[in-house]
Amino acid sequence: MTADRAVLQEALDRGEEEGGPIEFKERLSRDVHLVDGRMESLAAQLRHRVLSGDGEATYVVGVTDDGRVAGISASAFSETMDVLSLLAEEAGAHIEDVETWGVDEDGLVGVATVREGSILDTDDSHIVVGTAGHVDHGKSTLVGTLVTGQADDGEGGTRSYLDVQPHEVERGLSADLSYAVYGFDGDGAVHLDNPHRKTDRARVVEEADRLVSFVDTVGHEPWLRTTIRGLVGQKLDYGLLTVAADDGPTETTREHLGILLATELPTMVAITKTDLVSDERVQEVERAVERLLRDVEETPLRIERHGVNAAAEEIGDVVPILQTSAVTGTGLDALDDLFERLPKTNGGDGDFRMYIDRTYAVTGVGAVASGTVNSGTVEAGDDLLLGPMPDGSFREVEVRSIEMHYHRVDRAEAGRIVGIALKGVDEAEVERGMVLLPADADPTPVREFEADVVVLNHPTRIGTGYEPVVHLETVSEAAIFRPEDGHLLPGDHGTTTVEFKFRPYLVEEGQRFVFREGRSKGVGTVTDIT
Ligand code: GDP
Ligand code: MG
Repeated sequence: MTADRAVLQEALDRGEEEGGPIEFKERLSRDVHLVDGRMESLAAQLRHRVLSGDGEATYVVGVTDDGRVAGISASAFSETMDVLSLLAEEAGAHIEDVETWGVDEDGLVGVATVREGSILDTDDSHIVVGTAGHVDHGKSTLVGTLVTGQADDGEGGTRSYLDVQPHEVERGLSADLSYAVYGFDGDGAVHLDNPHRKTDRARVVEEADRLVSFVDTVGHEPWLRTTIRGLVGQKLDYGLLTVAADDGPTETTREHLGILLATELPTMVAITKTDLVSDERVQEVERAVERLLRDVEETPLRIERHGVNAAAEEIGDVVPILQTSAVTGTGLDALDDLFERLPKTNGGDGDFRMYIDRTYAVTGVGAVASGTVNSGTVEAGDDLLLGPMPDGSFREVEVRSIEMHYHRVDRAEAGRIVGIALKGVDEAEVERGMVLLPADADPTPVREFEADVVVLNHPTRIGTGYEPVVHLETVSEAAIFRPEDGHLLPGDHGTTTVEFKFRPYLVEEGQRFVFREGRSKGVGTVTDIT
C-alpha cells in the first residue's frame, strides 16, 4: 500500500460518525442532489461536518454509507466533485484537495478535503497555471521543484509531493486534482517546505504578495472549465506544457497543446529533463516543438534567445519555449522570473458577456446562472438579454443579485466567477451554453458556422456527416461536420462547415473550440458565421 492509500484506509477505518467530520458518499449527481430542498440539506450537512472537524471535513467518495468500497466511473466521479464543490460553496467552504484511487477494472474512490472559508482570493495578484503534457514528461516534478525551490533527484523525489498514478491518467482522469501554490514577495520566491502540509500553503498565501497556483489539467479536457472552476474557483490564466528532452513531443503532447490553445489559454512550453541528453538532442527537440507550434498556427519564442521580458510581454501572441532541468536547475530561475511577472489574464474589456456554465434554483431567489464573466462588468439591477432559447430568441431578464464566492456583491468584472440571480425567467429555461448580454445588444443566434480545424487524433479520415460533440465556451453540443474538400485527414488542417444538430448558440468569429467523438479529437477556430 502506498503512503497515500493510508489516507483512504484511515478514513474507512474511522468510518462515518454521527456528528463527526467524515462523510461517505457513493456519488452525487446534479439531477438528484442539486434540486430544491435537497441541495440545502446537503449543504447544511456539509457545514456541520466542517464545523465538527474544526474547519475541515473529509468526504469519501465511491464508498457506500456503511463503508463498502464501491468505486464509481470517472465521469460519475467528476460530476460528484462538481456537485460537492457547489455544496461547499453553498456552505461557505471549498474543496481543498482531492485524491483518488483505482478499484477493480475502472472504478474510482476518492477522498476530498473540504475546508471552511472561500477559496484563495481571486485578486489580480494570483495567477493560476494549468499544466499538461505526456505522462512522465516531468509535469509534477517541475511544479514540485518550482514550489519548493528544491532540486529533484531524477527519480521522482519531488513529484512525490504531487503524485499522479499513471494508470489513472491513462484512464482519462487525473488522480491529482489538488493544486500546488507558491508565491513572491519583494525579495523573490516564497517556497513551500512541504506541499503536503496544509499549514505550509497557508503560510505562503500569507507571506506572498503574489501567488501562482498550478493545477493539473490532464484528463479534464472538455470539462476543463467546469472541473477546474470547481476546484480552484477561478479560471486558468496560463497553460504550461511539458515535453521531455529524451522522448520529444508525442501524440499526447500534440493533443494537450491543442486543448490548451483551444481553451484560449496563453501557453508556454517547458522542455524538461535536459540534463539527460546532449545539447544536440535538446536543440532537436526544441525544433520539433517549434514545428508542432507552427502546425497549429502558433509562433514559438525561445526564451534563451529572446529573454523573459519578451516572453512575459508577448505570451498569448507567441508561445514561449524554455529549456529546463529539475535536477540541475536549468531554466528554473527564468521560470520564476516569468511567473513573477506574468499579468493576470482577466482579458475582457468591452461589453458585458458571460457564457452560462451552470444553473440552479435557490429558494426565494429563483434562477441562478453561474459562469465566468468573459468581458465587461455586470451590476445588480442591470437589464440583460438571455439566450439563445432553443428557437433562437433572446429573453429580457434582470439581475436580481450577484454572488461571488458566497458573498453578495454589487458588481463583477471580467475574469470573475459569479452566480447571477435572474428575474424574469424560470430556472428550467436557463441552459448551459446560453449567454448573458447587455439589453441593447443585437445578438445573432448561430446554427451553422465555418471553421478552420485541425484533427489531432483520428484513426481514419473524417468525412461529411461526422458527428462529434463540439465544446465551445460552455457549449457542449452535438454537431455535424461538412468538410470543404469532402474530408479531413488526421494531422491536417482543413475547413469545414459545422452545424449544431439541435439548436443555435451564440458563436463569434475567432472563438476556439474542441471537438471529439469516441477517441477522436480535434480543435478549431470559428472563421465565419453564416
Ligand atoms: P509527470 O507524469 O509528467 O508528472 O512526470 P513526473 O514529474 O512524475 O516525472 C517522471 C520521472 O522523470 C520522475 O522519475 C522524475 O524524477 C523524472 N524527471 C522529471 N524531471 C526531470 C529532470 O529534469 N531531469 C531528470 N533527470 N529527471 C526528471
Ligand atoms: Mg505527474
